[in-house]
Amino acid sequence: MLALIAILLGLCFGSFLNVLIIRTPMDKSVIFPPSSCMSCGNKLRFYHNIPLISYIFLRGKCGFCGARISMIYPIVEAVSALFGFFIYLRFGFSFSALFIGISILLLFALSVIDLKTKEVPDSINFSALIFGLIGGILYYGDFLYIVGSAFALAGFFTLLRFAFQSLAKKEALGEGDIIVVATIGALVGWKIALFAIFLSALFALIILLILSKKDYKIPYIPFLFLGTLPCLFFTSFFNNLLMNYFFQV
Ligand SMILES: [Zn+2]
Repeated sequence: MLALIAILLGLCFGSFLNVLIIRTPMDKSVIFPPSSCMSCGNKLRFYHNIPLISYIFLRGKCGFCGARISMIYPIVEAVSALFGFFIYLRFGFSFSALFIGISILLLFALSVIDLKTKEVPDSINFSALIFGLIGGILYYGDFLYIVGSAFALAGFFTLLRFAFQSLAKKEALGEGDIIVVATIGALVGWKIALFAIFLSALFALIILLILSKKDYKIPYIPFLFLGTLPCLFFTSFFNNLLMNYFFQV
């Protein structure tokens, strides 16, 4: 029963993420006006707006003009519902799970926006950080460790960024990436966050090799997000790794 509620919460939040994904890069309000078709401008009725179900029922077309609706929206909703389920499995049904879940879903929206537009809206980025901080503090019960992790990682990567800029005369990490790194620190603590960042760099490297792109201008936030997921859901595995191989002197 609780799992079902978690899935439905994820689904509804996924529907809101779609609004964020469409409107935030255009600097539009996410609350007003209500959703309308981007082709014909007709306001959507409530039964056009039910997550996933409307898309299937309308066969991916606008109910008024028949314009195709992008597959991205039902995918975002389905993935959000899955996150609802996995967050519940990992963190239970609690306030900390709610805050951590919202933070993760906001990072997910940020990844989609970064992929689509190569933009990183600060409003979503800082919201993810704040929800991550509150969720992390509630879950781990250690205010200093969580806040310290976020600040230490942000500080370290800001230094790294300046060093790289002055040495290589190239942009390495964006400011947006650094806030995401701070959020990862808040969600899993700085030690596990280093694994997340290592994994994200590994994934990005693999994709760069596959695409064999010469320029390094690939969006990095989706990779940070992907690297964070195993660390968030299998924290004890990475903890054991740390204990057994890294801190054994
Ligand atoms: Zn339409």
